[in-house]
Amino acid sequence: MNRQPTLRLKATAAVLLCLALGAQMPVAQAKDGPAPAVPSAAAAQSFDAEVDAFLSAYWAMFPDSAVAAGRYAEAARLPAPTEALRKQQLAFAELWLQRLAGLSKNLALTPGQTGDLLLLDNHLQALRWSLTELRSDRWDATEYNVADPFAQLLNKPDFAPLPQRLGLIDQRLRQVPAYYKAALANLHEPSPVHLRLAIEQNSGALSLFRDDIPRAIKEAGLKPAEAAAITAHNAKAQAALQAYIAALSKIEKKQLADGSGRSFRLGKALFEQKFAYEIQASVDAPTLFQRALAEKETLLQRMSAYADELWPQLFGAEAVPADRLAKIARVIDKLSARHVAPERFVEDIKAQIPALEKWVVEHDLLTLDPSRPLVVRETPSYMRGVAGASISAPGLMDPKGVTYYNVDPLDKYTPEQAESFLREYNHWVLQVLNIHEAVPGHYVQLLYSNKSPSKVKALFGNGAMVEGWAVYAERMMMEGGWGAVDGKPSAEMGLMYAKWNLRVVSNAILDYSVHVLGMSEAEAMNLLQREAFQSNTEAAEKWHRAQVSSTQLSSYFTGFSEILALREQLKAKQGKDFKLKAFHEEFLSHGSAPVRMVQRLMLDKAAN
Ligand code: ZN
Ligand code: ZN
Repeated sequence: MNRQPTLRLKATAAVLLCLALGAQMPVAQAKDGPAPAVPSAAAAQSFDAEVDAFLSAYWAMFPDSAVAAGRYAEAARLPAPTEALRKQQLAFAELWLQRLAGLSKNLALTPGQTGDLLLLDNHLQALRWSLTELRSDRWDATEYNVADPFAQLLNKPDFAPLPQRLGLIDQRLRQVPAYYKAALANLHEPSPVHLRLAIEQNSGALSLFRDDIPRAIKEAGLKPAEAAAITAHNAKAQAALQAYIAALSKIEKKQLADGSGRSFRLGKALFEQKFAYEIQASVDAPTLFQRALAEKETLLQRMSAYADELWPQLFGAEAVPADRLAKIARVIDKLSARHVAPERFVEDIKAQIPALEKWVVEHDLLTLDPSRPLVVRETPSYMRGVAGASISAPGLMDPKGVTYYNVDPLDKYTPEQAESFLREYNHWVLQVLNIHEAVPGHYVQLLYSNKSPSKVKALFGNGAMVEGWAVYAERMMMEGGWGAVDGKPSAEMGLMYAKWNLRVVSNAILDYSVHVLGMSEAEAMNLLQREAFQSNTEAAEKWHRAQVSSTQLSSYFTGFSEILALREQLKAKQGKDFKLKAFHEEFLSHGSAPVRMVQRLMLDKAAN
């Protein structure tokens, strides 16, 4: 399962690229000639002014990203994804790459500012690469979906009264037909698996125009003439979306008949470059892949020991299977019978959050912010089908916005599928999921990130840091004794946590194997089901996600292993002065910057 402010698979290239950061240069370089030794207030001012100028231009170029970040000044615009727009975006990237490079030449910057510049530089390089090399606008039909900003405008009562928000919605509605016309013109040889997902997601988006916007028009108490105008624009937008879905379905039919369409696999060159931009690890993709393979073996050894420990109480005198995987699978299978009833799934998640918050406070792990509570809800229909569970955090410029914990209800499943899903998210694993998504995982991290003094780091967050933190949070809670029974560590929790952690490791293995090594569906299912003990439902959904996404599945393990390594480095340096809470709060205070960048800042500080 997945997290997310920008972190879910997003509909537009621009938003997806918010994750596409990558800093290849070391800090404190790229300076020609002498520079003032001490950063001056004037320098800080012109740095801030230039970054603000960049952001204004950025929001104007990418209005959907602006809305996602909680900025509504550009919300009336829905630019059609034409070739002219692509050229404008490319020119934008070139211009700002040059302008921002000028800053590091002409000013003495603080380490934090240098980090900001590195992030922006890589964001812009990734944008340029995406527009010229990756070109997913031509083959990934899921890039085109207008739903999310409309939903944001409908559901954000804080920023303006409904009639005013409907005014913005009305202006966007008028641009929907041109948007989908341009989208369709862009698609050449679309990848069939992305095409199918685009049909499903855009069909989910229809309910916005059919139900949500008409309901809002009624509630707003507009003058009849105004209401009639919006209603007419809404009808045209809905018709345009239906026509787009019909056109995609026609392409799909043709592809099914003649087997045409681009492969969903990125291939070695594109994958490794995308990995460098998006993950921004201290290692490259092949190295990370090897590290994941080694970690898989470590986890299997640990799981084997837990299985031996649990075997007698579960199976009595029955002989232990000689095959290690078979033995672990038997024990997991037996334990998995303990799970919530399907109709209690969302409620049960809701009930666990306060217990986790209490634990974090009592164990002095992090300061929480009770003024910004988490709202657990069923995932809105247009967002379903990718992750199962996710976090929607408010944007940086939306300080009072609500954080939602989106949980897909299980009604899309047959009873057999629901049972399989619930065995996967059994009594123990559901707790780990809530740690990951909510407390002290994504929800807590994203609140810290939005308080970071660096707008750039909060806005252009690094997905591997964000996912890595959530995975690290699980480990840290387990280390602190979460899940213990009568004060004793629980082998059940130990085994189930290891299984969950093995999934993160398998994600990285799967991602590289599918996109670079040509892994088949049968091989993927063997990895996930036999070697990582996943249920059929879980494995099938993961295989789907591995096809429609790339590099994102590697972010969890990469970020996790780098955070853990940083903590151990600091522990070694600080000895008994090391404080876990202080480490967590300082780590999170840098915003969602790449771990290797935070590492540099924290180790420098520890050395002084
Ligand atoms: Zn996550
Ligand atoms: Zn059951």
